[in-house]
Amino acid sequence: MAKVIGILGLGLIGGSLGLDLVRLGYTVVGVSQRIQTCAIACERGAVTVAGTHWALLKAADIVFNCLPMDKVHGSMERLVTLLRPGTVVTDVASVKMPFIESATAIWPWFVGGHPMAGTAHQGITAALPHLFRERPYVLTPIPATNPDSLAQVQHLITALEAQLYTTDPASHDQAVALISHAPVFISAALLLTTQSAPPGIQHLAQQLASSGFADTTRVGGGNPELGLNMALYNRAALLEQLGSYQYVIEKLRENIAQGDGQALETLLKQSQQLRQDYVT
Ligand code: NAP
Repeated sequence: MAKVIGILGLGLIGGSLGLDLVRLGYTVVGVSQRIQTCAIACERGAVTVAGTHWALLKAADIVFNCLPMDKVHGSMERLVTLLRPGTVVTDVASVKMPFIESATAIWPWFVGGHPMAGTAHQGITAALPHLFRERPYVLTPIPATNPDSLAQVQHLITALEAQLYTTDPASHDQAVALISHAPVFISAALLLTTQSAPPGIQHLAQQLASSGFADTTRVGGGNPELGLNMALYNRAALLEQLGSYQYVIEKLRENIAQGDGQALETLLKQSQQLRQDYVT
């Protein structure tokens, strides 16, 4: 099993993986864009050694590609020129369909993955220990995925105490559009809507905003780069979910306009029940 772990991109996800993997006793080699990020990663104990030269990753048995989504594909082309044959590469990108086939075609030891954990912050200073503990971590193998590479990644995910799930890339992208990507845009819309209130009311609302508004806007107020990449890379599934959302919000709006308390009560009871299926 792997002893040296490489992490490309020492941000929120890469740094958090590093913190846990160092604690678990692995040698962690980190590569990031800025030397300052590498220094902070060393200081925080998220890596054993770090630098800006990608050739450092040659020492790794498994590499976690934790770059922003728009850099994952291009980075694979560069990575494969540096790694030893047999080195397992896994990514953490929030959308799987655009990368999995092409990455596996150029590197037969590639395994797609996505940890379902994060915060509203980004960068190495936002990295947290135990970020993945008791959180879902999805792997998305395809028929061409190397079974031994898959087993090695599964072993590490289990060591992180994450809840391991396996599904195909297309189902993954549809499911995350429903519970992650559409909520980002619905939550962002909620924040943007506040601007339509008169300035005096906006000011008062800012003073009164409490836990309910914090809960419903957390994901809309997060890293814009992440939301943008969700929209660009998971466009079809996201558009489908936003279409369904528009339909439901219009139904609710009609019931409110008609003062149809019975219909509203039915829908709200249904939503109360549904929440328990998704959030325990
Ligand atoms: P992030 O905090 O912005 O981290 C990305 C890091 O990549 C940056 O800190 C940057 O490091 C580094 N980087 C950028 N270009 C680079 C390059 N050319 N060479 C080397 N390093 C480079 O983003 P993140 O939230 O960790 O997201 C990373 C990946 O995780 C994305 O693919 C995202 O889809 C996925 N993901 C995110 C979340 C979430 O909630 N945030 C959850 C699950 C999965 P420097 O500081 O050195 O510039």
